[in-house]
Amino acid sequence: MERIANFINGKFLPPLSGQYLDNFNPATGNIYSQLPDSDSRDVKLAIKAASEAFPQWSQMEKIQRAEILDRISKKILENIEILATAECIDTGKPISLARILDIPRSAQNFSFFSKAILEFENEIFKTEDVAVNFTDHSPVGVVSCISPWNLPLYLFTWKIAPALAAGCTVVAKPSEVTPMTAHLLAKLCNDAGLPAGALNIVHGLGTKLGPELVENPTIKAVSFTGSTRVGTEISKLAGASFKKVSLEMGGKNPTIIFADCDFQETVKAAVRAAFLNQGQICICGSLILIEKPLYEKFKRAFIKATEKLNQGDPLDEGVDQGAVVSKSHFDKVMGCIKLAEQEGGKILTGGKVTKLPGLNSGGWFIAPTIIEGLDQNSQTNQEEIFGPVVTLQSFETEDEAITLANATRYGLAASVWTGNRDRANRVAKQVASGIVWTNCWMLRDLRTPFGGVKDSG
Ligand code: NAD
Repeated sequence: MERIANFINGKFLPPLSGQYLDNFNPATGNIYSQLPDSDSRDVKLAIKAASEAFPQWSQMEKIQRAEILDRISKKILENIEILATAECIDTGKPISLARILDIPRSAQNFSFFSKAILEFENEIFKTEDVAVNFTDHSPVGVVSCISPWNLPLYLFTWKIAPALAAGCTVVAKPSEVTPMTAHLLAKLCNDAGLPAGALNIVHGLGTKLGPELVENPTIKAVSFTGSTRVGTEISKLAGASFKKVSLEMGGKNPTIIFADCDFQETVKAAVRAAFLNQGQICICGSLILIEKPLYEKFKRAFIKATEKLNQGDPLDEGVDQGAVVSKSHFDKVMGCIKLAEQEGGKILTGGKVTKLPGLNSGGWFIAPTIIEGLDQNSQTNQEEIFGPVVTLQSFETEDEAITLANATRYGLAASVWTGNRDRANRVAKQVASGIVWTNCWMLRDLRTPFGGVKDSG
């Protein structure tokens, strides 16, 4: 069985404890590899390597740094099948999704920031004829990058690439639930000529590694993506030593649908926004708000389209719903469905385990689930589920739609569907959300900021 190693100072090292954790394939429920159960000693070693690499990496000409990052991007694309397969086995997501979304975007993260660093302009302000002021950007030093399991390589590289491009050196911790693509990336970084110590990867449990990654005085900034619960802990620890912190956290994202929308397009997009990656994307639209006159028609079409989703072995082509990422997440999502029923919700489709034959009979598959009839204040409508479970609610006025959309503690991403551009702009402005898409979903341009408001970040 493959044993993943830590990547420290350009070398693949076992954890100092000699202990390993099991890594599961969610589509079978079987252990398929092991990862280091590292502790603070491994993190200290990685921080030392990053600190020693910092002078050379930060002083290297930007063009040279950019060339190395661009080579990493190309290596990712050359190895797209290997990486997509690894991501599919690690996460339970359909291989087609890993192939068209996760892996190309991971390559793009490196290529985009390799160019961005060359094009970054300093701001200049002239104070009458008295002075010329300019901003100067310099790398802060060693940074910690902590990432979640849902888009493991995509989000991991979205942190690492800009940090490296800026001249920082990195100690990164992928999620212990999905460590494989980060391990493969380390090999590609060596092949691409990334200097030893510029990127270090320590595998293991967040609870064990987190304090050292956040509190060690050599760490100058922490970039975290994950749950609001863990983000809150990190923010407290990092704040105590005035570290720079970036927190990308949970969401409960409204999909706001008006009766004058392009109906077919909206149904298609709402299904994608609800269930892509089994609903395990922070920006997934899980709170679907529909204008009353359209409610019944939309509901019927939405259920029909959801029931057409092909759930199966994520390694099979043509599958568009795989397994959820782990047994504990499976239990959590099934628990949320049960709670929704206890809260008075009516399950319109799904709500149960999908049983697959053969090797997949032990996998963690949940049928895409649609629920209606829940109060806005129910826990189901307030809290992030982060799985293939969405709720439907109707609204009568624009104001009511905005109130419902803003009724949770989160504010990450929303989408508004209407044929009326003025209304789209009006509603978008009033929804408290880091991103509001109008008549589209998950269209990203890396030049625009990404982030949430309220408890999303
Ligand atoms: P999580 O918070 O449990 O874990 C995220 C990472 O933090 C993992 O690497 C984990 O090991 C580590 N960690 C855990 N405890 C830690 C601690 N005490 N100190 C430091 N690190 C610690 O989240 P998850 O279950 O991996 O991911 C799902 C969550 O991530 C969802 O809430 C989802 O909305 C969120 N997410 C947000 C975005 C975004 O851009 N806003 C993107 C993807 C996922």
